[in-house]
Amino acid sequence: MSMSMSIVSATPPPPPPPPPATAKSPSVVPPAPTTASAAQPRRLASLIDSSTSLDHLLQIHAALLRRGLHHHPILSFKLQRSYSSRGRLRSSVALFNCSSEPTVYQWTALIQDHAHLGLHQQALLYFVQMMGDGIEPNAFTFSSVLKSCPLESGKALHCLAVKLGFCSDPYVRTGLVDVYARGGEIVSARRLFDSMPEKSLVSLTAMITCYAKHGELKEARVVFDEILERDVVCWNVMIDGYAQHGKPDEALVLFRQMLSAGVRPNEVTVLSVLSACGQLGALEVGRWIHSHIQNNGIQMNAHVGTALVDMYSKCGSLEDALLVFESMNHKDVVAWNSMILGYAIHGSSQCALGTFNTMCRSGVNPNDITFIAILTACSHTGLIKEGWDFFNSMKDKYGIQPKIEHYGCMVNLLSRAGNLEEAYQLVKEMEIEPDAVIWGTLLGACRLHAKTALAEKIAEFLVGKDLANCGTYTLLSNIYAASGDWEGVAKVRTLMKSSGVVKEKGCSSIEVNNRVHEFLAGDKRHPKSREIYSMLDEINGWLKAYNYRAQTEMVLHDLGEAQKEQSLEVHSERLAIAFGLISTEAGSTIRIVKNLRVCSDCHEVTKLVSLMMGRKIVMRDRNRFHHFVNGSCSCGDYW
Ligand code: ZN
Ligand code: ZN
Repeated sequence: MSMSMSIVSATPPPPPPPPPATAKSPSVVPPAPTTASAAQPRRLASLIDSSTSLDHLLQIHAALLRRGLHHHPILSFKLQRSYSSRGRLRSSVALFNCSSEPTVYQWTALIQDHAHLGLHQQALLYFVQMMGDGIEPNAFTFSSVLKSCPLESGKALHCLAVKLGFCSDPYVRTGLVDVYARGGEIVSARRLFDSMPEKSLVSLTAMITCYAKHGELKEARVVFDEILERDVVCWNVMIDGYAQHGKPDEALVLFRQMLSAGVRPNEVTVLSVLSACGQLGALEVGRWIHSHIQNNGIQMNAHVGTALVDMYSKCGSLEDALLVFESMNHKDVVAWNSMILGYAIHGSSQCALGTFNTMCRSGVNPNDITFIAILTACSHTGLIKEGWDFFNSMKDKYGIQPKIEHYGCMVNLLSRAGNLEEAYQLVKEMEIEPDAVIWGTLLGACRLHAKTALAEKIAEFLVGKDLANCGTYTLLSNIYAASGDWEGVAKVRTLMKSSGVVKEKGCSSIEVNNRVHEFLAGDKRHPKSREIYSMLDEINGWLKAYNYRAQTEMVLHDLGEAQKEQSLEVHSERLAIAFGLISTEAGSTIRIVKNLRVCSDCHEVTKLVSLMMGRKIVMRDRNRFHHFVNGSCSCGDYW
């Protein structure tokens, strides 16, 4: 889940300081009306400052009107600020409009209040009006209006600030760093940032945001580490940067550091951390965050609820996902989508379909993401008729144009069910150019249904159009390997090398005692490597007793049978399962997350392990969840 955070508005600089009521007024402030004694405005000013409620403020306002002091520049400025700080922007604007000659302080307050509420266009408009009225802005006016500036107008203001000599002001400079950072001009932002003699927390945070949103995490981290006193916004930016750019483990490490530094997480923090937990399958940490939300008064709104549903279902606990979902008072389409997708990836297609119907009945309209979720559900259990119905109703009933992802789901559904010709036909007739994922799906089905001729035709097409990716080559290589055509395998490998495609390595992870342990195929880096491998030996002994025969056609390389068997034995998911068996309590559930699709040999072995060891094993692979219990899998061997 991506969140946009306006850093500067989260920590606004202090309001422009009005001249004290007692001091001699600067030239921009007209002299106080002579009808009142000097003591009266002073007393009223301190009354406004100490007013405790809106009623109180209204009484003071009435008193001002009675005494003819409502045009007093300092008093009307203070009143204007007090109204807006109580959320009464309208009253504040009305008061401003009554001023015959508003001061730069009043203009600045008006601009700042609008910028703070995200009313950026209005803020910019007031700035332009102010300049048109011949009022010269001060540094606070600049720093306020910069928050509302897109890059181009920000650049124009930069020039103006140079001309008027405000560029050395730290607030103005921070505002400019933020403008360039938001606009994606990292180099300019960095140059301004480096030239600041003293860096404020706001400018540091703006700089980290600039890097972390562009995925330049190393640079972001260098700036982050420079900050001695980090506030929650600063931690959030760095944690979210890691979570959104494929470093969920780093996000969790940093989150722990944030807690030990005594900084209290807020809603933004938990959204990032829950996303990281979901990516890693870190159920225990996810549960801890859930209880932290409950115990620390973080509001359980639609965003947080949805993030929890998403985390629980991705971590393999559909039961918890459902509990949270049912407890949500307000469910928007995003919340419904995450529940439907949760059912879909766990293979509970009927529940997904049922939830879809309940959603429609409750008056929430599906969007394009809903259809991705529901078509995924259909494809995981081969519901061809339902799939076509949903696909057609999308356009006809809901007016949603199918995107490449929807076609992808349909091709997946048809080709996995063996309707390869129908799938091929759909691809050829698509209104959008099919992408490598769709071709890869077809290719995968060709392997499953041993359609070598069609596979070769597709592969040739892909290589010719430069659409082939690592998955394409692997699948083609698989097809050749399965039919024992080692020359074909070698040909693909040469093609892969010459096209510079790097094969993604299989990697499985498991969470034990709140730590995520990762394994690559044949990995021996883990401190408990010896115990893990002796557990694997033990498993292999039992497998023999169960008359298990390894599916060596899964091995790509041209090896002898004994060697092939050995390379299957050390697939990453088996190492993770073996580690799970030796380091968790007997009878407890083992949860594995794998980055690629689980191979059919490991799938078979995992079924047997669940039977032999009396363990439930939940495995999330690239496509879906597999729940292995008592020797069988929830996918019904259809994945
Ligand atoms: Zn495997
Ligand atoms: Zn399965």
